[in-house]
Amino acid sequence: MDVEVLILGSGYSGVNVYYNIRKKGKLIISDSNEFKFYTSLWRNNLDTIDKIYLDFVKTDSIKDIDIKARCIKSAKLGEICAENIIIALGCDKSKLIATMRDILKYNNVSITVEDPLIEYLGLQFAFYLKRLGKDVKYYGNYLSMLGDKVSQSVQALMEKYNIRSAERADIVIPSCEPPQSLGFLKVNERLELAKGVYAIGDIIYGWPKLGELAMREGVFLGKGINKGVTKKFNPIFIYILDTGFGDAIHIRSDVFWGGTFQSVKRSRIRSFMKRFIEHYYVFRKGNMGFLYYL
Ligand SMILES: Cc1cc2nc3c(=O)[nH]c(=O)nc-3n(C[C@H](O)[C@H](O)[C@H](O)COP(=O)(O)OP(=O)(O)OC[C@H]3O[C@@H](n4cnc5c(N)ncnc54)[C@H](O)[C@@H]3O)c2cc1C
Repeated sequence: MDVEVLILGSGYSGVNVYYNIRKKGKLIISDSNEFKFYTSLWRNNLDTIDKIYLDFVKTDSIKDIDIKARCIKSAKLGEICAENIIIALGCDKSKLIATMRDILKYNNVSITVEDPLIEYLGLQFAFYLKRLGKDVKYYGNYLSMLGDKVSQSVQALMEKYNIRSAERADIVIPSCEPPQSLGFLKVNERLELAKGVYAIGDIIYGWPKLGELAMREGVFLGKGINKGVTKKFNPIFIYILDTGFGDAIHIRSDVFWGGTFQSVKRSRIRSFMKRFIEHYYVFRKGNMGFLYYL
């Protein structure tokens, strides 16, 4: 079977490519036809994840990808070749989530993360533990990869809620793991891996494992593929760090990619915004829509 655009994976990044492609010959394959909304884990005690059924996803498991030939092998459909292949297979978050669930058992704990690329998750989790009434300490760099302004604001917010800095951690939250056969993938400025083959989302080598970023990449590529991807992708880290006590900070920075832009806005509205975003994405089945422009 040959198709024009083949999308592998129907998570935050893959679905946003799909929603934005106007070409008829598009196919999205994933081992599950449910969109898993990981952000919902924060409000569900890390216990249950919101899943939304996607009727346009072909359920199948990807076994092999031949990047040069632009062909894949899947368990049910067999070989499929395509003009464009978009690899959006994410990374396995099961150990990371299991460790966080384990930490919930403790009333007194100091935590850190294995990799700065998931540090925002460790910080969000520290606030979450505090809200549950736990005595939590944090060991880390307070998102220094996003610049001094961001790092100082995060540290000040943690001090305000008495999340003290630790000299070492009892428990390290492990990073997510890439698909075994592929590893993390290096891309160029157009998110291209090889001619006509792109990688987006958590599977990108060396980039933060952030859903907002993954969706943004998906929208960029989906729109780009309609005409040919000629523009550069402008990466930016955007996250609302919610204290759970009524206020939050909205972080935006491109310092990680060599830029100079840093913005930190703190207010109660940001906390409401986070709640709104959570419901919005479930309702929209992962479609980023107007939030792309925020
Ligand atoms: C607890 C937690 C909370 C989070 N909260 C936030 C948040 O508040 N804000 C934020 O921006 N980000 C958040 N994230 C990060 C966010 O979930 C990820 O960055 C996002 O899921 C990455 O999207 P993706 O499309 O790259 O991968 P995924 O969403 O993981 O999608 C990968 C897809 O590929 C499929 N797949 C994998 N292997 C195969 C295969 N061999 N064959 C077929 N299909 C396959 C999977 O089934 C899945 O559909 C959170 C993560 C965690 C763990």
